[in-house]
Amino acid sequence: MNIEKYHEILAKIKPYQATLVAVSKTKPASDVEDLHKAGQLVFGENKVQEMCGKFDELPKTIQWHMIGHLQRNKVKYMAPFVSLIHGVDSLKLLKEINKQAAKNDRVQDCLLQMFIATEETKFGFAESEVLEMLDSEEFATLANIRVKGVMGMASNTDNVDQVKREFSSLRRFFDQLSAHQFSGDEAFSEISMGMSGDYELALDQGSTMIRVGSLIFGERNYVK
Ligand SMILES: *Cc1c(COP(=O)(O)O)cnc(C)c1O
Repeated sequence: MNIEKYHEILAKIKPYQATLVAVSKTKPASDVEDLHKAGQLVFGENKVQEMCGKFDELPKTIQWHMIGHLQRNKVKYMAPFVSLIHGVDSLKLLKEINKQAAKNDRVQDCLLQMFIATEETKFGFAESEVLEMLDSEEFATLANIRVKGVMGMASNTDNVDQVKREFSSLRRFFDQLSAHQFSGDEAFSEISMGMSGDYELALDQGSTMIRVGSLIFGERNYVK
């Protein structure tokens, strides 16, 4: 773990008042514990089982964010405690999250994951799909979810202009939703974008939440 880098990132995000999600996937619980002792509260995982294991083991003062692609049948395991779900990419998934949140007597905070990259492998809504969903009667009945904003992953490329364009398109869509569908809703406030390789670009394009793993915890042994 690179504690110096951690503090450097905190200093960089400070003027933007953005939130750092420390992405601890594939890393041992002891790494999370060490960073938590250094003051970090928010951690991100992309596998439900791994997050639940770490939740059980570690202090309950930690806030857990699910940042990965989510299968509906796994939602129930994290529903009692997950603090923010970044990767919501369908109405079906949102309905399951609503159902499990209701069972736990919670209102679940979520972000809508938008497809902003040019790669086939990235998940997410198209803008038209979100607009249609927000308009639907089904969406209006979901009393146990609260949409806090949007999330996106830029293309994995060295082309800075392209990454900038992708981030700014997410920012533009957030602004549009903010002004219309979510107008007057103060909770709708988050744009989750930016990872180890592109978080500074993301902050410049309006990110409020960066998800950084390898810069803090070191390279992962395998891609998850
Ligand atoms: C792994 C992961 C990250 C962090 O990636 P790094 O490049 O290690 O910072 C961010 N967001 C998502 C969705 C991830 O799966």
